[in-house]
Amino acid sequence: MEQQRAIVVGGGIGGLTAAVALHRNGWQVTVLERAADLAPVGAGIGLAPNAQRALDVIGLGDRVRELAAWQGDGGMRAPDGRWLARTNAGAAAARFGGPLVLLHRATLVEILTSALPDGTVRTGTAASLTDPGDDRRPARLTTPYGETEAELVVAADGIRSATRHALFPGHPGLRYAGCTTWRVVIPAPETPFAPHETWGAGRLWGTQPLKDGRIYAYAMATAPAGGRAPDDEKAELLRLFGDWHHPVPEILAAVDPAQVLRHDVHHLPDPLPAFHQGRVALLGDAAHAMMPSLGQGGNQAIEDAVVLAHHARSAPGFLPGRDLAAYTADRLPRTTAIVRKAARTGALTMLSARPAVALRSTLVGAVSRLGPGLVLRGFDGIADWHPPVAPTRPA
Ligand SMILES: Cc1cc2nc3c(=O)[nH]c(=O)nc-3n(C[C@H](O)[C@H](O)[C@H](O)COP(=O)(O)OP(=O)(O)OC[C@H]3O[C@@H](n4cnc5c(N)ncnc54)[C@H](O)[C@@H]3O)c2cc1C
Repeated sequence: MEQQRAIVVGGGIGGLTAAVALHRNGWQVTVLERAADLAPVGAGIGLAPNAQRALDVIGLGDRVRELAAWQGDGGMRAPDGRWLARTNAGAAAARFGGPLVLLHRATLVEILTSALPDGTVRTGTAASLTDPGDDRRPARLTTPYGETEAELVVAADGIRSATRHALFPGHPGLRYAGCTTWRVVIPAPETPFAPHETWGAGRLWGTQPLKDGRIYAYAMATAPAGGRAPDDEKAELLRLFGDWHHPVPEILAAVDPAQVLRHDVHHLPDPLPAFHQGRVALLGDAAHAMMPSLGQGGNQAIEDAVVLAHHARSAPGFLPGRDLAAYTADRLPRTTAIVRKAARTGALTMLSARPAVALRSTLVGAVSRLGPGLVLRGFDGIADWHPPVAPTRPA
Protein backbone atom coordinates (compact mmCIF):
# COMPACT_ATOMS: atom_id res chain seq x y z
CA MET A 1 0.00 0.00 0.00
CA GLU A 2 1.27 3.50 -0.82
CA GLN A 3 2.51 5.40 2.23
CA GLN A 4 0.56 8.50 3.16
CA ARG A 5 2.51 11.75 2.99
CA ALA A 6 2.95 14.15 5.89
CA ILE A 7 4.59 17.52 5.30
CA VAL A 8 5.92 19.36 8.33
CA VAL A 9 6.37 23.10 7.80
CA GLY A 10 9.16 24.27 10.12
CA GLY A 11 12.22 22.42 11.40
CA GLY A 12 12.24 23.73 14.98
CA ILE A 13 11.94 21.51 18.04
CA GLY A 14 8.20 20.96 17.53
CA GLY A 15 8.43 20.21 13.81
CA LEU A 16 11.35 17.81 14.16
CA THR A 17 9.71 15.93 17.04
CA ALA A 18 6.52 15.59 15.00
CA ALA A 19 8.55 14.32 12.03
CA VAL A 20 10.18 11.61 14.16
CA ALA A 21 6.89 10.57 15.78
CA LEU A 22 4.99 10.41 12.46
CA HIS A 23 7.83 8.59 10.71
CA ARG A 24 7.76 5.95 13.46
CA ASN A 25 4.01 5.54 12.84
CA GLY A 26 4.46 4.76 9.16
CA TRP A 27 4.04 8.18 7.55
CA GLN A 28 6.28 9.26 4.70
CA VAL A 29 7.52 12.54 6.20
CA THR A 30 9.14 15.62 4.69
CA VAL A 31 10.19 18.63 6.75
CA LEU A 32 10.32 21.94 4.90
CA GLU A 33 12.47 24.52 6.68
CA ARG A 34 12.90 27.99 5.25
CA ALA A 35 16.26 28.68 6.95
CA ALA A 36 19.41 27.68 5.09
CA ASP A 37 20.32 25.23 7.88
CA LEU A 38 18.86 23.80 11.06
CA ALA A 39 21.27 25.55 13.42
CA PRO A 40 19.04 26.58 16.33
CA VAL A 41 19.65 29.68 18.44
CA GLY A 42 22.77 29.27 20.60
CA ALA A 43 21.04 28.74 23.90
CA GLY A 44 20.03 26.07 26.37
CA ILE A 45 16.62 24.49 26.76
CA GLY A 46 15.17 23.03 29.93
CA LEU A 47 13.15 19.85 29.52
CA ALA A 48 10.87 18.87 32.38
CA PRO A 49 9.73 15.27 32.98
CA ASN A 50 6.57 15.88 30.90
CA ALA A 51 8.56 16.50 27.69
CA GLN A 52 11.03 13.75 28.56
CA ARG A 53 8.17 11.26 28.81
CA ALA A 54 6.98 12.39 25.37
CA LEU A 55 10.52 11.82 24.07
CA ASP A 56 10.47 8.36 25.71
CA VAL A 57 7.51 7.50 23.46
CA ILE A 58 9.71 8.05 20.40
CA GLY A 59 12.70 6.29 21.95
CA LEU A 60 14.82 9.40 22.50
CA GLY A 61 14.36 10.14 26.21
CA ASP A 62 17.43 8.23 27.39
CA ARG A 63 19.68 9.89 24.81
CA VAL A 64 18.48 13.33 25.90
CA ARG A 65 19.03 12.56 29.60
CA GLU A 66 22.51 11.21 28.80
CA LEU A 67 23.56 14.48 27.12
CA ALA A 68 21.84 16.84 29.56
CA ALA A 69 22.71 18.26 32.96
CA TRP A 70 20.35 17.73 35.89
CA GLN A 71 18.80 20.90 37.20
CA GLY A 72 17.26 21.61 40.56
CA ASP A 73 20.08 21.97 43.11
CA GLY A 74 20.25 25.71 43.46
CA GLY A 75 17.47 28.14 43.96
CA MET A 76 16.11 31.64 43.83
CA ARG A 77 18.09 34.66 44.94
CA ALA A 78 17.72 38.41 45.39
CA PRO A 79 20.06 40.75 43.46
CA ASP A 80 22.14 41.27 46.63
CA GLY A 81 22.80 37.51 46.74
CA ARG A 82 20.38 36.46 49.52
CA TRP A 83 18.90 33.02 48.89
CA LEU A 84 15.12 33.35 48.86
CA ALA A 85 14.40 29.69 48.18
CA ARG A 86 16.45 26.55 47.69
CA THR A 87 15.49 23.94 45.15
CA ASN A 88 16.54 20.35 45.14
CA ALA A 89 16.87 17.97 42.18
CA GLY A 90 15.87 14.98 44.31
CA ALA A 91 12.66 16.64 45.52
CA ALA A 92 11.75 17.64 41.95
CA ALA A 93 12.44 14.12 40.68
CA ALA A 94 10.40 12.56 43.48
CA ARG A 95 7.45 14.87 42.87
CA PHE A 96 7.34 14.63 39.08
CA GLY A 97 8.78 11.19 38.47
CA GLY A 98 12.04 12.44 36.99
CA PRO A 99 14.55 15.30 36.94
CA LEU A 100 14.38 18.58 35.09
CA VAL A 101 17.28 18.59 32.64
CA LEU A 102 19.04 21.26 30.62
CA LEU A 103 20.82 20.80 27.31
CA HIS A 104 22.09 22.88 24.44
CA ARG A 105 19.46 23.36 21.73
CA ALA A 106 21.91 22.17 19.07
CA THR A 107 22.24 18.87 20.96
CA LEU A 108 18.47 18.37 20.98
CA VAL A 109 18.19 19.18 17.27
CA GLU A 110 20.99 16.71 16.54
CA ILE A 111 19.26 13.95 18.53
CA LEU A 112 15.98 14.55 16.69
CA THR A 113 17.46 14.73 13.19
CA SER A 114 19.53 11.60 13.76
CA ALA A 115 16.24 9.70 14.20
CA LEU A 116 15.03 10.72 10.72
CA PRO A 117 15.90 9.06 7.39
CA ASP A 118 18.43 10.99 5.29
CA GLY A 119 16.79 13.53 3.04
CA THR A 120 13.74 14.07 5.28
CA VAL A 121 14.64 17.68 6.04
CA ARG A 122 14.76 20.15 3.15
CA THR A 123 16.33 23.40 4.26
CA GLY A 124 16.11 26.65 2.32
CA THR A 125 12.50 25.74 1.50
CA ALA A 126 9.79 28.14 2.65
CA ALA A 127 6.29 26.71 2.26
CA SER A 128 2.91 28.38 2.35
CA LEU A 129 -0.48 26.75 2.65
CA THR A 130 -2.79 27.21 -0.33
CA ASP A 131 -5.57 24.76 0.65
CA PRO A 132 -6.06 23.00 4.02
CA GLY A 133 -7.89 20.09 2.30
CA ASP A 134 -10.58 17.98 3.94
CA ASP A 135 -11.55 14.32 4.42
CA ARG A 136 -11.78 13.83 0.65
CA ARG A 137 -9.01 15.99 -0.83
CA PRO A 138 -5.37 16.49 0.21
CA ALA A 139 -3.95 19.71 1.60
CA ARG A 140 -1.90 21.81 -0.80
CA LEU A 141 1.22 23.92 -0.29
CA THR A 142 3.36 26.20 -2.42
CA THR A 143 7.13 25.90 -2.21
CA PRO A 144 9.94 27.52 -4.24
CA TYR A 145 9.90 24.30 -6.33
CA GLY A 146 6.20 24.43 -7.10
CA GLU A 147 2.92 23.09 -5.68
CA THR A 148 2.88 20.01 -3.50
CA GLU A 149 0.19 18.07 -1.62
CA ALA A 150 -0.07 15.84 1.42
CA GLU A 151 -2.57 13.84 3.46
CA LEU A 152 -1.36 15.65 6.59
CA VAL A 153 0.29 19.04 7.02
CA VAL A 154 1.89 19.88 10.36
CA ALA A 155 2.23 23.63 10.75
CA ALA A 156 5.19 23.99 13.11
CA ASP A 157 6.20 27.36 11.67
CA GLY A 158 6.82 29.09 14.97
CA ILE A 159 5.60 32.14 16.82
CA ARG A 160 4.97 34.22 13.68
CA SER A 161 3.21 31.34 11.95
CA ALA A 162 1.80 32.36 8.57
CA THR A 163 -0.24 29.14 8.58
CA ARG A 164 -1.99 30.17 11.81
CA HIS A 165 -2.95 33.47 10.17
CA ALA A 166 -4.12 31.72 6.99
CA LEU A 167 -6.35 29.31 8.96
CA PHE A 168 -7.67 31.80 11.52
CA PRO A 169 -7.46 35.29 9.95
CA GLY A 170 -9.91 36.74 12.49
CA HIS A 171 -7.82 35.73 15.52
CA PRO A 172 -6.26 38.73 17.34
CA GLY A 173 -2.81 37.10 17.16
CA LEU A 174 0.36 37.88 19.09
CA ARG A 175 0.55 40.38 21.91
CA TYR A 176 3.72 41.97 23.30
CA ALA A 177 4.20 40.82 26.88
CA GLY A 178 6.04 44.00 27.96
CA CYS A 179 9.48 42.45 28.38
CA THR A 180 12.54 41.42 26.46
CA THR A 181 14.98 38.52 26.94
CA TRP A 182 18.67 37.85 26.46
CA ARG A 183 20.36 34.46 26.16
CA VAL A 184 24.01 33.48 25.91
CA VAL A 185 26.23 30.42 26.34
CA ILE A 186 29.70 31.06 27.79
CA PRO A 187 32.75 28.77 28.19
CA ALA A 188 33.17 26.81 31.44
CA PRO A 189 34.16 29.18 34.29
CA GLU A 190 37.20 28.46 36.50
CA THR A 191 35.22 28.25 39.75
CA PRO A 192 31.91 26.39 39.91
CA PHE A 193 28.79 27.91 41.51
CA ALA A 194 25.26 26.90 42.31
CA PRO A 195 22.66 27.34 39.57
CA HIS A 196 20.25 30.13 40.40
CA GLU A 197 17.50 32.39 39.17
CA THR A 198 17.56 35.88 40.63
CA TRP A 199 14.53 38.14 40.72
CA GLY A 200 14.97 41.91 40.95
CA ALA A 201 12.66 44.84 40.24
CA GLY A 202 11.44 44.32 36.66
CA ARG A 203 14.53 42.19 35.96
CA LEU A 204 15.49 38.54 36.16
CA TRP A 205 18.77 36.70 35.68
CA GLY A 206 19.36 32.94 35.49
CA THR A 207 22.58 30.94 35.36
CA GLN A 208 22.61 27.18 34.73
CA PRO A 209 25.48 24.81 33.82
CA LEU A 210 25.34 22.59 30.73
CA LYS A 211 26.63 19.01 30.82
CA ASP A 212 29.99 19.97 29.26
CA GLY A 213 30.61 22.66 31.90
CA ARG A 214 29.64 25.62 29.72
CA ILE A 215 27.16 28.05 31.26
CA TYR A 216 23.77 28.99 29.90
CA ALA A 217 22.72 32.42 31.14
CA TYR A 218 19.40 34.09 30.47
CA ALA A 219 17.91 37.40 31.50
CA MET A 220 14.63 39.24 31.18
CA ALA A 221 13.65 42.86 31.80
CA THR A 222 10.63 45.06 31.24
CA ALA A 223 11.19 47.19 28.13
CA PRO A 224 9.27 48.80 25.26
CA ALA A 225 8.89 46.56 22.21
CA GLY A 226 11.53 46.68 19.51
CA GLY A 227 14.28 48.26 21.63
CA ARG A 228 17.95 47.57 20.99
CA ALA A 229 21.00 48.68 22.95
CA PRO A 230 22.66 51.78 21.42
CA ASP A 231 26.07 50.09 21.71
CA ASP A 232 25.76 46.30 22.13
CA GLU A 233 23.65 43.89 24.17
CA LYS A 234 26.53 42.91 26.46
CA ALA A 235 26.83 46.58 27.44
CA GLU A 236 23.08 46.66 28.08
CA LEU A 237 23.34 43.56 30.30
CA LEU A 238 26.20 45.18 32.23
CA ARG A 239 24.05 48.28 32.80
CA LEU A 240 21.12 46.17 34.04
CA PHE A 241 22.89 43.37 35.94
CA GLY A 242 26.55 44.38 36.35
CA ASP A 243 26.16 45.10 40.09
CA TRP A 244 24.22 41.91 40.91
CA HIS A 245 25.62 39.20 43.15
CA HIS A 246 28.42 36.72 42.34
CA PRO A 247 28.65 35.05 39.77
CA VAL A 248 26.65 37.46 37.56
CA PRO A 249 29.49 40.01 37.02
CA GLU A 250 32.02 37.21 36.36
CA ILE A 251 29.70 35.65 33.81
CA LEU A 252 29.08 38.98 32.13
CA ALA A 253 32.83 39.56 31.90
CA ALA A 254 33.16 36.32 29.91
CA VAL A 255 30.34 37.13 27.46
CA ASP A 256 31.19 37.67 23.81
CA PRO A 257 28.89 40.55 22.72
CA ALA A 258 28.42 38.92 19.29
CA GLN A 259 26.92 35.82 20.92
CA VAL A 260 24.19 37.57 22.93
CA LEU A 261 20.69 36.83 21.65
CA ARG A 262 17.94 39.34 22.34
CA HIS A 263 14.27 38.63 21.72
CA ASP A 264 11.16 40.52 22.75
CA VAL A 265 8.54 38.34 24.39
CA HIS A 266 5.26 37.92 22.52
CA HIS A 267 2.54 35.44 23.33
CA LEU A 268 -0.97 34.37 22.34
CA PRO A 269 -3.14 35.22 25.36
CA ASP A 270 -6.32 34.48 23.36
CA PRO A 271 -6.51 30.79 22.51
CA LEU A 272 -7.16 29.75 18.92
CA PRO A 273 -10.62 28.27 18.21
CA ALA A 274 -8.90 24.96 17.26
CA PHE A 275 -5.44 23.54 16.57
CA HIS A 276 -6.55 22.11 13.24
CA GLN A 277 -8.50 22.78 10.10
CA GLY A 278 -8.99 20.36 7.22
CA ARG A 279 -5.80 18.28 7.06
CA VAL A 280 -3.63 20.84 8.83
CA ALA A 281 -2.56 20.58 12.48
CA LEU A 282 -0.84 23.49 14.22
CA LEU A 283 1.66 22.80 16.95
CA GLY A 284 4.23 24.47 19.21
CA ASP A 285 4.56 28.24 19.18
CA ALA A 286 2.39 28.40 16.05
CA ALA A 287 -0.51 27.09 18.15
CA HIS A 288 0.12 28.50 21.64
CA ALA A 289 3.06 30.89 21.95
CA MET A 290 3.66 31.55 25.63
CA MET A 291 5.93 33.60 27.89
CA PRO A 292 9.16 31.74 28.77
CA SER A 293 8.50 32.12 32.52
CA LEU A 294 7.70 28.42 33.08
CA GLY A 295 10.22 27.17 30.48
CA GLN A 296 7.42 25.19 28.86
CA GLY A 297 7.13 26.49 25.26
CA GLY A 298 9.40 23.82 23.80
CA ASN A 299 8.15 21.18 26.25
CA GLN A 300 4.60 21.75 25.07
CA ALA A 301 5.69 21.60 21.41
CA ILE A 302 7.20 18.17 22.13
CA GLU A 303 4.03 17.00 23.89
CA ASP A 304 1.92 18.29 20.93
CA ALA A 305 4.04 16.35 18.46
CA VAL A 306 3.71 13.03 20.24
CA VAL A 307 -0.02 13.44 20.89
CA LEU A 308 -0.61 14.41 17.25
CA ALA A 309 1.21 11.30 16.02
CA HIS A 310 -0.84 9.24 18.47
CA HIS A 311 -4.12 10.46 16.95
CA ALA A 312 -2.82 10.15 13.39
CA ARG A 313 -1.17 6.81 14.19
CA SER A 314 -2.97 4.54 11.75
CA ALA A 315 -1.72 6.36 8.67
CA PRO A 316 -3.84 4.37 6.17
CA GLY A 317 -7.01 4.81 8.26
CA PHE A 318 -6.36 8.50 8.95
CA LEU A 319 -9.56 10.56 8.98
CA PRO A 320 -8.59 14.22 9.49
CA GLY A 321 -12.04 15.41 10.58
CA ARG A 322 -12.09 12.84 13.38
CA ASP A 323 -8.41 12.45 14.27
CA LEU A 324 -7.36 16.09 14.21
CA ALA A 325 -10.46 17.07 16.24
CA ALA A 326 -9.26 14.54 18.84
CA TYR A 327 -5.82 16.22 18.74
CA THR A 328 -7.37 19.65 19.35
CA ALA A 329 -9.51 18.24 22.18
CA ASP A 330 -6.40 16.80 23.85
CA ARG A 331 -4.12 19.77 23.46
CA LEU A 332 -6.08 23.02 23.40
CA PRO A 333 -7.37 23.07 27.02
CA ARG A 334 -4.02 21.98 28.47
CA THR A 335 -1.89 24.46 26.55
CA THR A 336 -4.39 27.31 27.11
CA ALA A 337 -4.07 26.79 30.86
CA ILE A 338 -0.26 26.75 30.60
CA VAL A 339 -0.16 29.91 28.42
CA ARG A 340 -2.24 31.66 31.13
CA LYS A 341 -0.11 30.36 33.97
CA ALA A 342 3.06 31.43 32.13
CA ALA A 343 1.57 34.94 31.76
CA ARG A 344 0.72 35.10 35.50
CA THR A 345 4.19 33.88 36.46
CA GLY A 346 5.75 36.29 33.98
CA ALA A 347 3.84 39.21 35.53
CA LEU A 348 5.05 38.14 38.99
CA THR A 349 8.69 37.93 37.90
CA MET A 350 8.47 41.32 36.16
CA LEU A 351 6.98 43.23 39.14
CA SER A 352 8.87 46.49 39.40
CA ALA A 353 7.30 48.56 42.20
CA ARG A 354 9.64 48.31 45.23
CA PRO A 355 6.94 47.42 47.84
CA ALA A 356 5.54 44.69 45.59
CA VAL A 357 9.05 43.30 45.01
CA ALA A 358 9.76 43.29 48.76
CA LEU A 359 6.45 41.50 49.45
CA ARG A 360 7.22 38.97 46.72
CA SER A 361 10.64 38.19 48.24
CA THR A 362 9.10 37.75 51.68
CA LEU A 363 6.42 35.41 50.33
CA VAL A 364 8.89 33.34 48.27
CA GLY A 365 11.11 32.98 51.36
CA ALA A 366 8.19 32.02 53.59
CA VAL A 367 6.87 29.46 51.12
CA SER A 368 10.34 27.98 50.68
CA ARG A 369 10.82 27.56 54.44
CA LEU A 370 7.76 25.31 54.43
CA GLY A 371 9.68 22.88 52.19
CA PRO A 372 10.74 22.40 48.55
CA GLY A 373 7.39 20.74 47.83
CA LEU A 374 5.60 24.06 48.06
CA VAL A 375 7.96 25.78 45.62
CA LEU A 376 7.58 22.88 43.18
CA ARG A 377 3.80 22.91 43.48
CA GLY A 378 3.70 25.53 40.70
CA PHE A 379 4.55 22.73 38.25
CA ASP A 380 1.84 20.35 39.42
CA GLY A 381 -0.38 19.46 36.49
CA ILE A 382 2.43 20.43 34.08
CA ALA A 383 5.58 18.44 34.83
CA ASP A 384 3.63 15.35 35.97
CA TRP A 385 1.91 14.90 32.58
CA HIS A 386 1.94 11.44 30.98
CA PRO A 387 1.58 10.83 27.25
CA PRO A 388 -1.33 8.76 25.95
CA VAL A 389 1.09 6.09 24.66
CA ALA A 390 3.64 3.82 26.32
CA PRO A 391 7.38 4.61 26.07
CA THR A 392 9.61 2.78 23.61
CA ARG A 393 13.14 1.69 24.40
CA PRO A 394 15.75 2.89 21.91
CA ALA A 395 16.63 0.35 19.21
C1 LIG B 1 14.29 33.38 26.50
C2 LIG B 1 13.56 32.12 26.16
C3 LIG B 1 13.82 30.97 26.91
C4 LIG B 1 13.11 29.80 26.67
N1 LIG B 1 13.40 28.70 27.42
C5 LIG B 1 12.70 27.58 27.22
C6 LIG B 1 12.96 26.40 28.00
O1 LIG B 1 13.87 26.36 28.84
N2 LIG B 1 12.21 25.30 27.78
C7 LIG B 1 11.21 25.28 26.84
O2 LIG B 1 10.55 24.26 26.70
N3 LIG B 1 10.96 26.36 26.08
C8 LIG B 1 11.67 27.50 26.23
N4 LIG B 1 11.43 28.59 25.44
C9 LIG B 1 10.38 28.49 24.40
C10 LIG B 1 10.86 27.70 23.19
O3 LIG B 1 12.05 28.29 22.68
C11 LIG B 1 9.81 27.70 22.07
O4 LIG B 1 8.54 27.48 22.62
C12 LIG B 1 10.12 26.59 21.06
O5 LIG B 1 11.39 26.78 20.48
C13 LIG B 1 9.05 26.55 19.99
O6 LIG B 1 9.38 25.55 19.05
P1 LIG B 1 8.63 25.49 17.65
O7 LIG B 1 9.17 24.30 16.95
O8 LIG B 1 7.17 25.61 17.86
O9 LIG B 1 9.03 26.82 16.90
P2 LIG B 1 10.47 27.31 16.39
O10 LIG B 1 11.55 26.71 17.17
O11 LIG B 1 10.38 28.79 16.29
O12 LIG B 1 10.56 26.71 14.92
C14 LIG B 1 9.81 27.21 13.85
C15 LIG B 1 10.57 26.92 12.57
O13 LIG B 1 9.72 27.16 11.44
C16 LIG B 1 10.50 27.75 10.41
N5 LIG B 1 9.54 28.42 9.51
C17 LIG B 1 8.77 29.51 9.77
N6 LIG B 1 8.01 29.79 8.69
C18 LIG B 1 8.29 28.86 7.74
C19 LIG B 1 7.82 28.62 6.41
N7 LIG B 1 6.89 29.41 5.86
N8 LIG B 1 8.32 27.57 5.73
C20 LIG B 1 9.26 26.76 6.28
N9 LIG B 1 9.76 26.96 7.54
C21 LIG B 1 9.26 27.98 8.25
C22 LIG B 1 11.43 28.69 11.17
O14 LIG B 1 12.57 29.03 10.39
C23 LIG B 1 11.79 27.83 12.39
O15 LIG B 1 12.93 27.02 12.16
C24 LIG B 1 12.13 29.77 25.64
C25 LIG B 1 11.88 30.91 24.87
C26 LIG B 1 12.59 32.08 25.13
C27 LIG B 1 12.30 33.30 24.29
